[in-house]
Amino acid sequence: MNAPFQSEHFTLHVLAEGVYAAIASEMEAGSSNAGLIDLGDQTLVFDAFENPQAAEDLLTACLQLTGRKPAVVIISHFHPDHWAGLQVFAGSAILATHATRQEMIPIAEEMREEKQEPSELENDLRETEANLAAETDSVKRHQLQVSIARQRHTLEALPTLEPTLPNQTFDGKIVFHGTRRSAELVVTGKGHTGSDCILNLPQDRVTFIGDIGFFQSQPFMANCSPSEWIAILEDMATWDMEIFVPGHGPLGSKADLTLEVRFIQTLEDLVRQAVQDGCSVAEVLGKTLPPPFDAWQADRPHRFETNVRSSFKRHSD
Ligand SMILES: [Zn+2]
Repeated sequence: MNAPFQSEHFTLHVLAEGVYAAIASEMEAGSSNAGLIDLGDQTLVFDAFENPQAAEDLLTACLQLTGRKPAVVIISHFHPDHWAGLQVFAGSAILATHATRQEMIPIAEEMREEKQEPSELENDLRETEANLAAETDSVKRHQLQVSIARQRHTLEALPTLEPTLPNQTFDGKIVFHGTRRSAELVVTGKGHTGSDCILNLPQDRVTFIGDIGFFQSQPFMANCSPSEWIAILEDMATWDMEIFVPGHGPLGSKADLTLEVRFIQTLEDLVRQAVQDGCSVAEVLGKTLPPPFDAWQADRPHRFETNVRSSFKRHSD
C-alpha cells in the first residue's frame, strides 16, 4: 500500500482509517516516532519529533489527511527528541503530565542559550566529523554518521527555533470522545522516565506507547526505573491491543514488548551480578550480552555504555 503522505523525515503508516503512525527515517530530522489520529471531529497528534523540519511535515500531513490542524498535541515524556519540533503546533492545546513539563523547562532554557550561542554545538559537530574521518570500524562509522546527521539537523533548526512548552498539564487519564472513535490518554507513571504517558485507541486495538517501546534495538535506560518499566510492559502484553507504536523502531506486537522486557532484565541482571562480584564499570563494559541481544549491543555500543553506566550507578547506590 502506498504511503498516504510522502516525507523524507518519516514513513506514514495507515493503521486504521484515520489512524497514522509516523515512523522516523534514519539520518533525517525526526529522530523519534509520532502519531496522527483523526477522531472524526478533532485531530490528535502524539509527540512532535526532534526538529521543526520534521514536525512541519507532520502538520502538513495532518492538514491534508484530516482537513484540520490538531486540536491537541500530546507529549509522551520529557526527552527532547519527542518535542523539540513543538513550535510548529503553537495554537493547539499541548498536553503533557505536570512532571514532564517540569523536566522540559530547563531543557527549553538550554535550547534558548544554544540559539544565542551555538559555538559549543558547532564544535561538537566538528569533533564528531573528525572522529568519523579517523574511524575505520564500519559499525562505529555508521553511528558517527547518524550523530553527525542529528547534529546538523539541530544546528539547521537553531536560528528559528522557538522552544515550546505544554500549555496544559494533566495527571491520571483523559478520554477524548470523537465522532468516529475515542482515544484514552493514560499516565503510566515511572518507567522509561519519571513520568510517561501513552495513547490507547481501543476500537482500533492500536496503542501509541512513546519510549515505553524501543523495538528491535536497545532501549535508552539512563532515566528509567527498570522494575516499573518491566511491570508496564508486562501489563501491556495482556491488553486487548494488536499494534504497538513505539517511540523508536518499527511498528510492533506483543512479542516486541516481551523481548524488550527480556532485554531490560538481562542488562539489569548482568550489572547487578557484576556489582555483587565487585567488578568495575570497565569490566562490565567488556562483557557481551547473550543472544539475541549481543547483536543489539554490537549495533549500538554507545547506547550499551550509557545503559551499563546508569544501571551500575543504580546498583551501587
Ligand atoms: Zn525517551
